[in-house]
Amino acid sequence: MGVAAACIVEEDPTGKFRHMIHDEVDKWVDQIIDDVFEEDKEPTVMELSEVFSKTKHKFLGACFQALIEQKYAGLLEQEYAPCPECGKMCKKRRGHLKQMVTMQGPSVLKRPWFYCVDCSYGFSPLDKALEISRKKYQFDVQKKSTRTAAEVPFSSGSELFEELTDQRVSDHFMHDTFEAVGEYACLEDVIPSQEEISARCREVKEGSWRPVLVVASDGAHVPTRPKAKRNEKRGRGRWQEAKGFRIYLLGKDRIAHVASWHQIQNDEQFGEDLSFVASRIPQDDLRIGLLGDGADWLWKHMVACFPKGRQILDYFHCAEHIHKVAKLQYGEKSQNCLEWVESTITRLFYAEADNVIWGLQRMKPRDSLAKEEIRKLIGYLQNNRERIHYRGDRIGGYPIGSGGIESANKFICHTRMKRSGAWWVKETGNKMLGTRCAIYNGTYGKIFENYKKAQTPL
Ligand SMILES: [Zn+2]
Repeated sequence: MGVAAACIVEEDPTGKFRHMIHDEVDKWVDQIIDDVFEEDKEPTVMELSEVFSKTKHKFLGACFQALIEQKYAGLLEQEYAPCPECGKMCKKRRGHLKQMVTMQGPSVLKRPWFYCVDCSYGFSPLDKALEISRKKYQFDVQKKSTRTAAEVPFSSGSELFEELTDQRVSDHFMHDTFEAVGEYACLEDVIPSQEEISARCREVKEGSWRPVLVVASDGAHVPTRPKAKRNEKRGRGRWQEAKGFRIYLLGKDRIAHVASWHQIQNDEQFGEDLSFVASRIPQDDLRIGLLGDGADWLWKHMVACFPKGRQILDYFHCAEHIHKVAKLQYGEKSQNCLEWVESTITRLFYAEADNVIWGLQRMKPRDSLAKEEIRKLIGYLQNNRERIHYRGDRIGGYPIGSGGIESANKFICHTRMKRSGAWWVKETGNKMLGTRCAIYNGTYGKIFENYKKAQTPL
């Protein structure tokens, strides 16, 4: 009964809204007149724009408030509401002021508050209907501020945010919200769904040409420190490896990103994560290329997760090893150095790793440094001989260098994680990596939605 009665609004809400907005426009115009039409003043475009920046949030926030007041008049005047836990009708306790800030500006809502004695549960049906955040800054602000924090450090992030949106948020707020949202950047949601991945595969497929799915893995070192309690001295920092992979599709004339995932973790966890992602990929319809440097951990897991994948030793890593030996043995940029590098790389291009190994074994090292590098290169080529066949890769349309993972690593890890002076607590570092991967994978919206759902009352 009470609920039904409360929902009847006598006046037409759109007409009333229109009136309220007109009032706000008048107030805004007054302010602009005060600022702009003073005598002797000839403001420039920048100065005029500044006047708008300074005043628009108050104006828009008030309009926003008026809109809610009319659209949700029924809920704002509600006297009785059923308890969401037990269904019992509860009488309004008191009017409760909710101060909130959206991207539009500040608004205040005077909405009824209910309390079920049986369940000891307080609730506001309006908060539920509008998905109002318990924080003052609403989810629209939280989403954008977290997106900003994923790109730049928290301190300069809050400055940048204000600079670009005329909306002030503290770096403390930015950090806390980031930590809370980052909690939801878990593998299952950061990686696109099976349907989404299948759709991306279909997009690059052209006629009878089967696209190549490239799985490129790599490690990058991130500066970490142990978590310290308040007033406690920070523990000693150390570098830990963020292990990650980037998976993409090579179409006939384009590259389609599938998924990136990087975490500070051990190789077993890396293997579990890769296997989870592999299970979402329709492997039967694709050719598969596996790319990596010589690290054993990455090959072990890539081969286990993509058993029919063609293994390709990253060309650039390989070439780097060869240059190192050449420099020590023949002297940098000497004629012999250049010739040896060229002939060695050509042999490797034609999959003649055994020939190169044979030659290295017969080489007379110039000194002990050269001897050590030669020994290492022999081991490296022996370990990876089955993965060296660059000419065949080229012909088959496979990539030979993990330029893909290098740039993804740079983008996801280095640009945000390796800022000078930044030492990451592992958990926060992983939230950062997860959130950045989500942005890159196009799943940030989903991560944020999950966070929001968990924040909103029953
Ligand atoms: Zn109840």
